[in-house]
Amino acid sequence: MNPSYSVSPIGFVRSCFREKFAIPRQPQLAPAARGVLELVAPFDQGEAVQGLEQVSHVWLLFVFHQALEDKPRLKVRPPRLGGNQSMGVFATRATHRPNGIGQSVVKLEKVEAGRLWLSGIDLLDGTPVLDVKPYVPYADVVTGASNRMAAAAPALIPVQWNDAALMQAREHALRLDEPLVELIDQCLAQDPRPAYQVPAPERVYGAQFWDLDVRWHYPQAGLIRVLEVVPAR
Ligand code: SAM
Repeated sequence: MNPSYSVSPIGFVRSCFREKFAIPRQPQLAPAARGVLELVAPFDQGEAVQGLEQVSHVWLLFVFHQALEDKPRLKVRPPRLGGNQSMGVFATRATHRPNGIGQSVVKLEKVEAGRLWLSGIDLLDGTPVLDVKPYVPYADVVTGASNRMAAAAPALIPVQWNDAALMQAREHALRLDEPLVELIDQCLAQDPRPAYQVPAPERVYGAQFWDLDVRWHYPQAGLIRVLEVVPAR
């Protein structure tokens, strides 16, 4: 029998993303996506983060806690490939994977005892974090590395705003003290819709960012219009 190991979270992320839909598929794609890693005892002591202020980015190892499954999958259908092509699980960064472990390089904005302030995250609110490691540019940047399946960041589509929606977003940005307009722009520009769906102009899509419901539609293919930004129900 295979040995098994138990791990436990060193903290949990409080994130702008309150549901999976519309979270960027990788970190760094939405620099305005911010959150806080709240460390739990005994890691909430200042000693655990001493020296981290010298580091611009960190690796987070975390659990895809809302995608855990009992039966391991050998093949997955990455959204990046349109959801209709399957690939070996180890060839992808899909959330459904053995042990449900994710990894992201994120920007470290501020360090406090018990709290790491992060940006450029791709993590759902409440994500359990297993470990934090400093990004080490000389070792982690691999010159000449390639990935023919994901050669470049996803193409962006234009995002337009209704006047009322933009005013709503600006007001809530002030209240939250967050770059909300930029967050919505950056996330929607990546077109969160599964690639195989053809959007009808009358169909309204929505996702929750912070405590707000954001609703948008596609007036034509390849164009998003934000319709409203209202308190989440
Ligand atoms: N950068 C990580 C990696 O490569 O392991 C995550 C990549 S995964 C493709 C990114 C997606 O994971 C996001 O778009 C979001 O929908 C999903 N996600 C983020 N946090 C999650 C969580 N705690 N549980 C389940 N899914 C999550």
